[in-house]
Amino acid sequence: MARPTLIILGTGFGAFSILRRIDVHAHDVIVISPRNHFLFTPLLPSTTVGTIEFRSIIESIRVSRAGFRYYQATCIAISPEERTLECEEDLGGRRFAQKYDVLVIAVGAANNTYSVPGVEQHALFLKGLSDARAIRQRIIDCFEQASIPGLHAAERKRLLHFVVVGGGPTGVEFAAEMHDFIEEDLRDHFQPVMDDVRITLLEAAGQILGGFDKTLAFYTMNHFRRQRIDVRTGSAVTNVEQTEVHLKDGTVLSYGLLVWSTGIGPIPLTRSLGFEKDAGKIVVDHFLCVKGYSNIYALGDCAAVEGSVLPATAQVAQQEGKYLARMLNRSVKQKPIHPFRYKDLGMLAYVGSNRALADLAAMKAHGYYAYLFWRSAYLTRLVSMKNKVLVLFDWVKAKLFGRDISRF
Ligand SMILES: Cc1cc2nc3c(=O)[nH]c(=O)nc-3n(C[C@H](O)[C@H](O)[C@H](O)COP(=O)(O)OP(=O)(O)OC[C@H]3O[C@@H](n4cnc5c(N)ncnc54)[C@H](O)[C@@H]3O)c2cc1C
Repeated sequence: MARPTLIILGTGFGAFSILRRIDVHAHDVIVISPRNHFLFTPLLPSTTVGTIEFRSIIESIRVSRAGFRYYQATCIAISPEERTLECEEDLGGRRFAQKYDVLVIAVGAANNTYSVPGVEQHALFLKGLSDARAIRQRIIDCFEQASIPGLHAAERKRLLHFVVVGGGPTGVEFAAEMHDFIEEDLRDHFQPVMDDVRITLLEAAGQILGGFDKTLAFYTMNHFRRQRIDVRTGSAVTNVEQTEVHLKDGTVLSYGLLVWSTGIGPIPLTRSLGFEKDAGKIVVDHFLCVKGYSNIYALGDCAAVEGSVLPATAQVAQQEGKYLARMLNRSVKQKPIHPFRYKDLGMLAYVGSNRALADLAAMKAHGYYAYLFWRSAYLTRLVSMKNKVLVLFDWVKAKLFGRDISRF
């Protein structure tokens, strides 16, 4: 019997989770995504300062398993009636059409700027490896520029002011990594300018880490205060200029680096689709099937399961991918299928100086032991043995020899 053509859009947590488990003998699998690797985002903040190297947290999609085809392209339109996708090749821009029998949409989400003017032009984001690389270079640039003799004091202070917008786990982890980098590596080499270094974390809501247990958020606030990270809650950004950020209360802060991490919104493809939406996400039923279509599925950050409020996390996307692979494998064999059920495994976050948070159903923990748990949990969750070894090696290397502060 001819195998149905199964197209998976994306190479993120949801897509990768399906790809690893789908029966390639029962499906003709094609993966389409502009990114030819899977990225382990939970350790992305560590790459911005060189605690972990970029290549240690990516898995090439082609070597991840055999028996499927991969096209490096972006899907720009879906025609459910003709069961056809319109795609654009990533490098050459050439367009092509691709037929499907079954479609899985796992295209993730985009950075949400809340239409604040100037963010797109002047801020750096923290979503992909190219973002992390840009941040790493900018940090070193700021320190090197600030060290040039004859610089006006105000300009030096500006260059050494690192502003993070968004007090969610990503913003908090980046501020923590930045603090470690400054204290453990840069302090010794940039001694004359160290008094001017500042980190500010801006959060529009009344508290940081809104999704975490209140005691853990409170612990982080105090921990950051001790580390002299200036946390400003209730501070909404209204405008970003090349060297200044404007707050709603009229405050103007000049900065050398601004990292924007305030949450996610739909990507252009998701926005363009005529499917039912909930807050910009594609509404799916409890079998992850797009409403009104029996052969189109959506999962991860681009989808909302009807009647459930699931967080936009790797954990959700991964569990959905695992479920969908099993469900599709069973469907082709005409075995009974069951609805998706999410199991909350809790949340972890690194808060700097070898301290972390563990918000689990069984316990709420913070401090050094939570940090050891955070490290071992992520080490075991990295996909390949190669990456586990590389990350472990990076951690040891950073401890023994310090992080690299070269600019190239
Ligand atoms: C810095 C950072 C840290 C994080 N830390 C954690 C954490 O500690 N724990 C946690 O649970 N979650 C964490 N998350 C969230 C987690 O990464 C996301 O929830 C998860 O990646 C969502 O998976 P996904 O498959 O829906 O999308 P993604 O993993 O974002 O993948 C989307 C994929 O779709 C591709 N794509 C985009 N547009 C198209 C298109 N038009 N056509 C085809 N392909 C397309 C992209 O290239 C990408 O491969 C973090 C996120 C970030 C950015």
